[in-house]
Amino acid sequence: MAHACANVASVSATKHIAVIAGDGIGKEVIPQAVKVIEAAGAAVELTTFDWGADRYLADKVTVPPDGFTILARDFDAILVGAFGDPRVPSNIHAREILLGMRREMDLYANVRPVRLLDASLCPLKGIEPKDLDFVVIRENTEGVYGDLGGVFKQGTPDEVAIQEDINTRKGVERIIRYAFEYCASNQKLDGSPRRRVLMCDKSNAMTHAGGLWQRTFKEVAKDHPRIETQHMYVDALCMQMVRDPREFDVIVTNNMFGDIITDLAAGLQGGLGMAASGNLHPGKTSMFEPVHGSAPPIAGKNMANPFGAILTAAMMLAHLGTAGEAAKIEAAVLEAVREKKTTADIGGTLGTREAGEWVAQRVSRR
Ligand code: ATP
Repeated sequence: MAHACANVASVSATKHIAVIAGDGIGKEVIPQAVKVIEAAGAAVELTTFDWGADRYLADKVTVPPDGFTILARDFDAILVGAFGDPRVPSNIHAREILLGMRREMDLYANVRPVRLLDASLCPLKGIEPKDLDFVVIRENTEGVYGDLGGVFKQGTPDEVAIQEDINTRKGVERIIRYAFEYCASNQKLDGSPRRRVLMCDKSNAMTHAGGLWQRTFKEVAKDHPRIETQHMYVDALCMQMVRDPREFDVIVTNNMFGDIITDLAAGLQGGLGMAASGNLHPGKTSMFEPVHGSAPPIAGKNMANPFGAILTAAMMLAHLGTAGEAAKIEAAVLEAVREKKTTADIGGTLGTREAGEWVAQRVSRR
């Protein structure tokens, strides 16, 4: 865990990346992503951190002193695997590292692209890759995951549990603005412009928070007259996502709804093993992680699909301005899917290491 880098990131062409594989399958898929980054020949310097359950069990340290400060100061981006280990039932290390990183570094925009690489991966009939190309922008620092609330009369028949849902004007406005700006400045894979931002909430039942989201959405939309707007309640959106996801473009929503609908969306792209994400704060060090968790039931068996982590690495490289290397990686993953050089969850026969190695070799030939 040597990381005495000077703060050269902003003036150096070499990008400095902190790599935290974490727990479970994170320890298997991240080495594959690293191998692929190296094969792509990007001008990056990778520094490994050992944060996770093993370290916590050894010395009770979740995040070393100044850990987040060092990440924010010395690195351009952070590549994370997953956290969660049955040996730490409280999951305190996962909370302190992952939620801590999102909050302390104020990574307020969780960007989750939903793309279908091959029709065979989608459980819906008649959906082709061109039909599934949307992005979910999830608020990452507020909502019901703020751990505010409490329990009263615990263990008695009169027990009361309160979980607060935090929605600030600042937090809601900046994520909605991010979604409009993302829509204005990003294209679909086929090169066509993105056109529409859909705000997803449950404002018919959660009127106070929903009202703030509704008002803010309408106000921010006025600054982007060329972008179409749409609104759906989260329940209706879930139904639409499995009936016909073709119309979705950019979806913005709160922390919990974003968490849930992106697992549903991952199902459309081939499962949790295929989904990538970034946790961003424009202008600051951002963190990239596959959507899946540590998946204890399959950990250590060389079974986990490394493509979500590899596509996450590509997303990180694109974010860092190395779009050529990112494109090479995405093309190689696409080739692997088409040639069934994959793990079993998406129909292949390879192990985690072998699938990663296949992609790395293809990348190095491009
Ligand atoms: P978390 O709460 O940390 O998000 P989770 O319990 O919701 O985690 P995961 O740990 O992501 O979910 O995994 C749930 C299941 O999905 C796993 O047990 C596994 O069967 C499958 N899965 C997840 N990721 C992968 C992967 N990369 N490759 C293959 N299967 C996966």
